[in-house]
Amino acid sequence: MKLPNYIDLAIIGAGVQALTLTTHLLQKSTKHYHKFLVFDPSRTWMNQWQQQFAAQQIPYLRSPVVHHPAPHPYQLRTFAENRPDELFPPYDRPGTKLFNDFCHEVIQRWNLADKIYPAKVIQILPTTSYSRPRFQLVLNTGETIIVRKVVLATGSGKVQLPDWAEKITSDYPPDKLCHSQQVNLNQLNITGERILIIGGGLTSGHLAKGAINLGATVTLMTRKQLQSKIFDAAPGWLGPKYLKDFHAQTDWDIRYEQIQQARNGGSMTPEMILQLSRAANEGKITIDECCQVRDAQWQDNLWQVYCHNNSKHQHGDCTWLTGDTRVRGNLEPRALGNPAVPRHQFNRIWLATGTRFNAQAHPLLQNVLETYPTEIVNGLPVLDEHLRLPKSNFFIMGGLAALQIGPVARNIGGGKMAVGRIVPAIVKPSWAIE
Ligand SMILES: Cc1cc2nc3c(=O)[nH]c(=O)nc-3n(C[C@H](O)[C@H](O)[C@H](O)COP(=O)(O)OP(=O)(O)OC[C@H]3O[C@@H](n4cnc5c(N)ncnc54)[C@H](O)[C@@H]3O)c2cc1C
Repeated sequence: MKLPNYIDLAIIGAGVQALTLTTHLLQKSTKHYHKFLVFDPSRTWMNQWQQQFAAQQIPYLRSPVVHHPAPHPYQLRTFAENRPDELFPPYDRPGTKLFNDFCHEVIQRWNLADKIYPAKVIQILPTTSYSRPRFQLVLNTGETIIVRKVVLATGSGKVQLPDWAEKITSDYPPDKLCHSQQVNLNQLNITGERILIIGGGLTSGHLAKGAINLGATVTLMTRKQLQSKIFDAAPGWLGPKYLKDFHAQTDWDIRYEQIQQARNGGSMTPEMILQLSRAANEGKITIDECCQVRDAQWQDNLWQVYCHNNSKHQHGDCTWLTGDTRVRGNLEPRALGNPAVPRHQFNRIWLATGTRFNAQAHPLLQNVLETYPTEIVNGLPVLDEHLRLPKSNFFIMGGLAALQIGPVARNIGGGKMAVGRIVPAIVKPSWAIE
């Protein structure tokens, strides 16, 4: 595809949120088919999604069958009519393959495969040299394009690492300590290894299961107690039950707090907790709740891990050391009775510690925020009702839109709520910012 000099609308990112936007936009007005391009270096739709689900061997989605990128809520259920075994109770959560096949059909149905321009956007420069405000996108291919409207749908945010992991000074092989996004269970040979997984969200559960299946033993360490929840935020956040009060709240800091409380860190589905408890009974996993690493060092091809004094290990034998407590791990006989010697050792550490959304740190927002000053609350921009930076044609969807959309902003359901606000402003723009 030859890059045009100008296009009306640029959508940055070809994930599930962008796909939801395009189907809803075309449902509203097929005229818009020739007015937009999607930019993504991966060349295909949902690449990130499919890679993560495959890498973590996730069998089915956490969200119910009505959450998908197509305009009609029942479309996925209809698609699954002859594949009932691929809907999982409760709430008929779709199997990974079913969902991917459905998205493939959606992409074909709306003829969207050719709408992706295979490039990464590396800079967005607001410009007024065309008599009206426009944006110049700079691509990693060296090309540029002028656009009237931008939708930023770049997804997951910046990986969040614990302080102790950032402070490690010793050299270590990069695959021995990594964020969950870098773990690919399909490419590992970890039989007999001991793996420490940090984090209490569903991702740590998937990784723990995967590692156990590969013949490793796992210690799962969480700051709080494991929380059992079917969805990551209560379904009331998808409708007026909770959103009415949320939208009535005019203090953005309080809204931010409400988002944090609704998600309350990570949580796992009840069936994942059940599977992990069974594995714990079989001695394949140790679950250390209310425990935090203080320090880790890479020595003799192993991680030596120390925890904070006040960590409350689930297992009584963790507190016998003076000074910092130890994680239940491998005991070296020579270390018994000598608290100075590290005794909890692991071959690998995986950080399932999530991601953080921060507009100020987003590489594509630097110049845009200078031209369109926007209040930022704990990293989240205060967008207008159509999810634009104030007085601009710059739209943001995904986790960064949470102050407007609420705690589900990053999920498929949140994407649907976001397009309900963005599409009307694209189809019928307000004169003020034309
Ligand atoms: C393992 C996992 C399971 C999940 N399961 C569910 C679930 O069951 N239900 C649910 O509702 N939510 C789920 N989520 C949450 C959420 O729906 C997903 O994270 C989803 O992928 C978010 O979609 P997105 O389009 O915002 O981002 P992504 O899928 O991450 O897509 C963003 C795209 O933007 C592209 N991009 C980034 N920067 C640039 C740039 N500078 N230029 C061009 N392109 C760029 C990337 O290449 C990527 O393709 C899950 C998340 C994870 C990590």
